[in-house]
Amino acid sequence: MSVTPFAFSTQLPRVVFGAGSIQYLQREIELLGSTRAIVLCTPEQRGSADLVAAVLGDRCAGVFDGAVMHVPMEVAREAQAFARKVGADCMVAIGGGSTTGLGKAIALESALPILAIPTTYAGSEMTSIYGITENGLKKTGKDPRVLPKTVIYDPELTLTLPAGLSVTSGMNAIAHAAEGLYAQDANPIMSLIAEEAIRSMAQGLRRVHIDPFDIDARSDCLYGAWLCGIVLGSVGIALHHKLCHTLGGSYNLPHAETHTVVLPHAIAYNTPAAPDMVGRIARALGADNAARGLYDLAKSLGAPTSLRDIGMPDGQLDRCAEIATQNAYWNPRPIEQAEIRQLLEAAYYGNPPA
Ligand code: NAD
Repeated sequence: MSVTPFAFSTQLPRVVFGAGSIQYLQREIELLGSTRAIVLCTPEQRGSADLVAAVLGDRCAGVFDGAVMHVPMEVAREAQAFARKVGADCMVAIGGGSTTGLGKAIALESALPILAIPTTYAGSEMTSIYGITENGLKKTGKDPRVLPKTVIYDPELTLTLPAGLSVTSGMNAIAHAAEGLYAQDANPIMSLIAEEAIRSMAQGLRRVHIDPFDIDARSDCLYGAWLCGIVLGSVGIALHHKLCHTLGGSYNLPHAETHTVVLPHAIAYNTPAAPDMVGRIARALGADNAARGLYDLAKSLGAPTSLRDIGMPDGQLDRCAEIATQNAYWNPRPIEQAEIRQLLEAAYYGNPPA
């Protein structure tokens, strides 16, 4: 085996992992040196946030339950004002990428530390990437201030994530690891992590699909999500994420579902240019072919496989292929508009990857 040259550096949050680990919240807040934490959540997860507030006891300065998808600037401002008003010195974000994202938007302005308690598999808690939406446009950036200081992964808090959402969220996580394998700045450590991440997530999802209350399966998924998040936060992305960004932004398609549908096709596109790395995806899935293995995994778990089924309007393939190839970006295989259109057509109709 030959090792290609690489550079390696990473900055990761402290992690506390395990069923019931929410019990360590007070200790972790103390370790951050904080005494007045605000709890962030979506309106739907107010119940979980109240539980967190109860565990925090007199270290809780209030609950802000206004987190919504894509972090609208108005919500970010409202939450920033709330944090100032109650004199918060830290944030506890319990929820998925939308809630962690709100915490990041507050941290960007205030530098308050974030303790994240992820309840989906999106992986935002392991990255210093933020996104804020203003006037219909989502602006993303990278800033070390938004990387959470501590993350508590408690699989018990994911038991309520509906099976369907668990599967698409898990496929979204697998996409981070899969593209990390052939990223421009890929390195052997992240490749080890990515392969193990895909293996753990796929194994967990197969069992969560059968029984969403299987705590061991939930642990495998959350462990996989952590590893996928590390890859996303440490190395670059390529065609798949670019396509999902374009589709999500242009047609307001649901985030995790879009990743689920596009991933097998993006991997098929890149297979000739990175056969060894893509082979590691196949090995992790126990499949002969990575792209087909991902497609079959999604199908067997009842996840969507067609862009049409998740709301992409008819007659948009040419325009979408044009937008997705407009700005040059790195990908292991050159981006050709005609081939990207073919890829999108297969994804639109839900055909198996070429
Ligand atoms: P989400 O956070 O929008 O959650 C979806 C819904 O599921 C919400 O209503 C939420 O309250 C609910 N939910 C979450 N956990 C639950 C649980 N355990 N039980 C019951 N309901 C639960 O969805 P997401 O897919 O986690 O995050 C998507 C967002 O995160 C997107 O905006 C995406 O751009 C962003 N994201 C950012 C990064 C990053 O690094 N910055 C990485 C991944 C995703």
